[in-house]
Amino acid sequence: MPAEFGATPWGRVWMRTVESTVVAAPNPLLPKARSLARNHAVTLTVEGGRIDAAVVTSGRPHRVRIDVPRWSAREQADAERLIAEALADHRGLAPGDLPDTLEADLRHHDVGIAPALADLDAGCECRTRQRPCVHVLTTLYALSQQLDERPVLAVELRSSNAKPATPPDPDRIEITAIDVAGFYGD
Ligand SMILES: [Zn+2]
Repeated sequence: MPAEFGATPWGRVWMRTVESTVVAAPNPLLPKARSLARNHAVTLTVEGGRIDAAVVTSGRPHRVRIDVPRWSAREQADAERLIAEALADHRGLAPGDLPDTLEADLRHHDVGIAPALADLDAGCECRTRQRPCVHVLTTLYALSQQLDERPVLAVELRSSNAKPATPPDPDRIEITAIDVAGFYGD
């Protein structure tokens, strides 16, 4: 039976970001956040640089938004090269999957998958004073689960737009997404 959270390296690195809040003192919100994520109390949308979620607690949805730093130009260039190499070496992956070895390759080239909690810009509409609140933590656990199922999202989340000179086009597919799709023969 796979691990509930962090069954793949992609989900695992993000789970470590959540659980880094334990370093100072055990955080009682973590078991609650795990339970909420496990019980599908979260609706999650992941796109480049941003996570949007609605987390239902006490019968009420709380909107959460987390801005995630994009890769620098150097990281982006290294990532695109490593992704292309990894996919060339691992043909026949299921759509949305990435080889586990790629996560290690990225790490060895200092291309981060999950930033530290302090580098995330997280907002929630709830009024609790403790930050990150349980809704943000639940969102990150749900993200970890989603990345275990669809590792390519981990890359899309950090990937920066390659052509800052062109105006943003909502229909434009990012370079990384095209490369990945091409290798799957879509
Ligand atoms: Zn909250």
